[in-house]
Amino acid sequence: MPTLELPPELIAETVAIRRDIHAHPELAFAEHRTATLVAAKLRALGLEVHEGIGGTGVVGLLSGGSPGSTIMLRADMDALPMPEESAVPFASQNPGVMHACGHDAHVAMLLGAAAVLRERTAELRGRVAFVFQPAEEGGGGAAAMLADGLIERFAIERAYGIHIACILPTGVIGLRPGPLMAAVDQFDLVVEGLGGHGAMPHRSVDPVVVAADVVTSLQRVVSREVDPVEPAVVTIGAINGGTTYNVIPPRVALKGTVRSFSTATRDAMEGRIRRIAEHTCAAANATCHLDWQSSYPVTENDPAETTFVRETLVAALGADRVVEIAPIMGSEDFSYFAQRVPACFMFLGAGDDAHAFPNHHPAFDIDEHAMQTGIRAHVAIALAAR
Ligand SMILES: [Zn+2]
Ligand SMILES: [Zn+2]
Repeated sequence: MPTLELPPELIAETVAIRRDIHAHPELAFAEHRTATLVAAKLRALGLEVHEGIGGTGVVGLLSGGSPGSTIMLRADMDALPMPEESAVPFASQNPGVMHACGHDAHVAMLLGAAAVLRERTAELRGRVAFVFQPAEEGGGGAAAMLADGLIERFAIERAYGIHIACILPTGVIGLRPGPLMAAVDQFDLVVEGLGGHGAMPHRSVDPVVVAADVVTSLQRVVSREVDPVEPAVVTIGAINGGTTYNVIPPRVALKGTVRSFSTATRDAMEGRIRRIAEHTCAAANATCHLDWQSSYPVTENDPAETTFVRETLVAALGADRVVEIAPIMGSEDFSYFAQRVPACFMFLGAGDDAHAFPNHHPAFDIDEHAMQTGIRAHVAIALAAR
């Protein structure tokens, strides 16, 4: 494979773009400034640009010098609804919104790859679709782009995506064939009791005690009802009820997230949680209402595509830069692309002693050197694709 050394101006430009986007984070489906910036950069490179796909999604098309298939390289653009507590000089100027998941770097890396590939179209076979999607953080922007005809309109045959992660050292790519990230579902559960005086519990049905029982009993879903060799999580992330010391409230509201790695387990979770919640409430003369919300499916890496990516990146970056990782209980809406075409999703390490906070931490920041590896990985995959 020809050299993948990056010119210093390109590295500087990538850092500048990442910092600009970091300072101006935008929430799901509201990535207007970011999408405008992306479209302008792609147009300046001479790419064919399509905007407004699935909301604020942008696609840039680059055709190679010889025939081949169309692949997509994906970056997500949205930030998180949380205040930034990092001390970087380019911290968020949009209060309560922060790029704490590295999507700013994803955008900058993919624009960098487009710039490199623009200079090497003669070596490129087929076509590359640079896909900038909205709303990864819970909004399902990938599904919105698919519903808007992404695959059909651009005849996309395979999909690749890179996610920044400070749990891996800078410049190391982590991937695995098969299930990489979990399916996620969430639920609201309201326990209905009978309010009353805190000193006369026998005249009420205390939903606080019942809710505590429900939380404890739900711990048995994973420990007693899921195969011990299969990963699954039930977490109650919020429990709210009551106002003061001596009043038994009429109801308590809980919020939970459920992660799973197989269809069978995923499909069984709602029924298990409903059964335990309803019967625990019934035992105490309380009732409950469960509102189940299905979210992202398992992110499944195609085995052949994963082998292709691993061999390509070992050749481009070195064997010590490509590692096999264990499945992660986080979730990704890249999974929707992987349901439609053979795909490979991977993590890119951006952590060192100075950048050790995990994704979604208010002080999250990355070692920007990692973006060079991200660009080289995108470029190597595009040049090797057939
Ligand atoms: Zn995230
Ligand atoms: Zn993310």
